[in-house]
Amino acid sequence: RPHKLPGKRQTLAKYGGRHTVTVLPGDGIGPEMCKHIRNIFAAAQAPVDFEEVEVHSDQSDGDMEAAILAIERNGVAIKGNIETKHDSPQYTSRNVELRTRLDLYANILHCVSIPTIPSRHKGLDIVLMRENTEGEYSGLEHETVPGIVESIKIVTRKNINRIARMAFEYCIANGREKVTAVHKANIQKLGDGLFLEVVKEMSKEYPKIKMESMIVDNACMQLVSKPQQFDVMLMPNLYGNIISNIACGLVGGPGLVSGMNIGERYAVFETGTRNTGTSLVGKDLANPTAFIRAGVDLLRYLGCNEHADLISDALWLTLVEQKIHTKDIGGDAKASEVVNHTIENLLKLADRFA
Ligand code: ATP
Repeated sequence: RPHKLPGKRQTLAKYGGRHTVTVLPGDGIGPEMCKHIRNIFAAAQAPVDFEEVEVHSDQSDGDMEAAILAIERNGVAIKGNIETKHDSPQYTSRNVELRTRLDLYANILHCVSIPTIPSRHKGLDIVLMRENTEGEYSGLEHETVPGIVESIKIVTRKNINRIARMAFEYCIANGREKVTAVHKANIQKLGDGLFLEVVKEMSKEYPKIKMESMIVDNACMQLVSKPQQFDVMLMPNLYGNIISNIACGLVGGPGLVSGMNIGERYAVFETGTRNTGTSLVGKDLANPTAFIRAGVDLLRYLGCNEHADLISDALWLTLVEQKIHTKDIGGDAKASEVVNHTIENLLKLADRFA
């Protein structure tokens, strides 16, 4: 089931019927994965031109400004992870900075079991909806006196409200039935208490959608033991990060799931678990599926549904029918074989529909 994003989005400029998309290749496997996406998009004749901007953790701030400007201009981007090398507390992660400055308040992952891909559980179809701009990621930490550190988690009614609204509206748009709000309000009584209160209040506006709450430690246990019970999981930032990684692991690991970062004005597409994959660079080993699916999400966001379906169907044939699997999911195929089969499949599919 493809994602349908609720709410209105801004109309994006098109030149000669083509969209311009910012590409931030980032570090690690990002650049090689972006090349694969370009090749697949070209084969599918997707009406998209790419504008590439290099951002790395060790470059000057100017590159970050160029990236933000490019995304503001184009409205959309696809990105690899930017490695955060600096341990200095003054240095914020560029990935986090991008999300907060562009106000990409919702991180949405769709973790769905793919037949033929080995996993402990079958039949999963979970949507993870994570607040993406505040909470523990506020970046406000200081050492008041040597040996005593304050790390400030900021949450606001306004931001909880909009992510909760997104979760319930997402259910309506996609025929989903239940929202599970994940929290730790028994300990973080004010911060997570506010989260829970806002979600409960909002659920009253959506009587047809079931709402339940679950303490984060129990949610982790339930996920690894009975994950089929979940439909849409709604989470504050840090719990969302951890739970997303568990859910991606459940359906086959970091190379499979894509992640959308959505705001009122802009959208950035990337892999669900945001890995750099440094140890895999240049070996043609990294599973390109998560990036390809990020590309499919991007095409759907742009309204290029036929191109999205074509690539998605071709990838499905590669993974499920032809069982072309990379090492991380128990196969011996190279990344380029997955990409080449996907391209061959989509050319055949396009030919059939011509
Ligand atoms: P860093 O790159 O930040 O030094 P890392 O490479 O050790 O970290 P991550 O990038 O966070 O780790 O990835 C976590 C694990 O997932 C690693 O074992 C990595 O090899 C694996 N991994 C990440 N992306 C993929 C992928 N696309 N395909 C297969 N395995 C992947």
